[in-house]
Amino acid sequence: MQIAIDGPSGAGKSSVAKAVAAKLGIVYVDTGALYRTIGYYVRQQGITREDVAGMEACLPHITIEVRYENGAQHVYLNGEDLGDRIREPEISMYASAVSAVPAVRAFLLDTQRDIAAKNSVIMDGRDIGTVILPKADVKVFLFASPEARAKRRTAELQGKGIAACYEDVLREMKERDDNDRNREVAPAVAAEDAVMLDNSDLTIEQTADRIIDLARAALEGQK
Ligand code: C5P
Repeated sequence: MQIAIDGPSGAGKSSVAKAVAAKLGIVYVDTGALYRTIGYYVRQQGITREDVAGMEACLPHITIEVRYENGAQHVYLNGEDLGDRIREPEISMYASAVSAVPAVRAFLLDTQRDIAAKNSVIMDGRDIGTVILPKADVKVFLFASPEARAKRRTAELQGKGIAACYEDVLREMKERDDNDRNREVAPAVAAEDAVMLDNSDLTIEQTADRIIDLARAALEGQK
């Protein structure tokens, strides 16, 4: 089973995907964490978000390993688990910058496809239905109004003890959405065969239930 969830930041992809994974007993793969991890390394090296050659030069020095420990995904950068350090707003902006670099996307392609080849997965990101898993059983493009998304993202960051104010989150989210949608390689757009799901007025549970219904219908159709 492969379920692809794409959509802009703050649409609730990760909460919804975690709920679906738990209910269906499949693996949740957070691909944004991979771009965040590369963004973290690049920033640590003092490379700016505009320095594409600098970012590319980092790649030979990076090994990324994804492990599942007690059902939770851990990403190891050169052997170290960075935990919530990759969730900082500045790292979000770095993740968006590195993700526009074709060499970075190519670098992460096999890691993502390998996990899907070995497990039943629900994978969230920006190009899962279009590039990573074009044959996914279910593809959903999850979205909500920018205001609803910024409100959720602010609460999520504050819940993790990371300082965040709504106006900054909204501004940076719009900037990141623009970068992600307008980049040349793997732009964050819906796959032609994706189900468009606006969850501005749905709870996580309700959204997860819709996706589970789609997964069940897809399995029935394959019988
Ligand atoms: O999903 P998350 O907000 O953690 O993703 C961080 C950034 O990584 C996004 O803004 C996007 O630029 C990039 N990304 C991507 N492709 C994915 C997942 C994330 O380009 N499949």
